[in-house]
Amino acid sequence: MTSESAPSFVCVECNANVPHITFVHFGSIRLHICNKCGRVADKYVEYELVTIMLDLLLHCKQAYSHVLHNLIPHHSAQNTRVELIRMALFSILLDACKKLNFSEHGVLFYRLFFASMMSFLAFIVGTLIASVLVIKLLNGGYVKKAKNINSHFGSYGLITKVGILTSFAQVGYIPMMIWDYPGEIIHTVSLFHFSSNMVGSKVALQCDGYIPALFVVGFGVICRTLCYRFISLYAAPLLW
Ligand SMILES: [Zn+2]
Repeated sequence: MTSESAPSFVCVECNANVPHITFVHFGSIRLHICNKCGRVADKYVEYELVTIMLDLLLHCKQAYSHVLHNLIPHHSAQNTRVELIRMALFSILLDACKKLNFSEHGVLFYRLFFASMMSFLAFIVGTLIASVLVIKLLNGGYVKKAKNINSHFGSYGLITKVGILTSFAQVGYIPMMIWDYPGEIIHTVSLFHFSSNMVGSKVALQCDGYIPALFVVGFGVICRTLCYRFISLYAAPLLW
């Protein structure tokens, strides 16, 4: 666990690297206190899953930091990859179902699934490109505000994980497939998806302020919309 290649832990309060988040003291497990801020480095290790989920829903950045920095990197890489692929497929499926609800009669579902999959990939690629730009700009000192940007290459992997994890917010579309759904609620779910992505990106980049995260997520959304439009307008005659 303490080998040099093992990822370190992060204090969810101040983003400082910490060697561990718990330790054994006279046979009992204690929470590590961060040397930088003097607070418990990660209070979420002793929280129930439901509490963590609620804090994620409430956009609590400490909860995002716990999941992204202290939970996922310390799980088996193979298991994490499989879970992320499953989550990505589930969110693509939800997106395709949402599109099916709004499309004309006779559109084949697998084609909508293909369009959703391509636009999801475009979103992930868009956020990656934007995060490379943001990290280069901030580390190059072109933007002074956010000095605390994480220059580690792991940030790019985290951005992808944020894109997949927060896409789970689309479960809010499930009731739409069962009952009549007012348009405002669909916009609210989309807005919630966007805002949770922003909080997650901010935590992944470890930057001050929301401007870099807004740029990353905004660019991803533009790429996703353009990709879907392109498929609808140009690839549609070939596909359906
Ligand atoms: Zn701290």
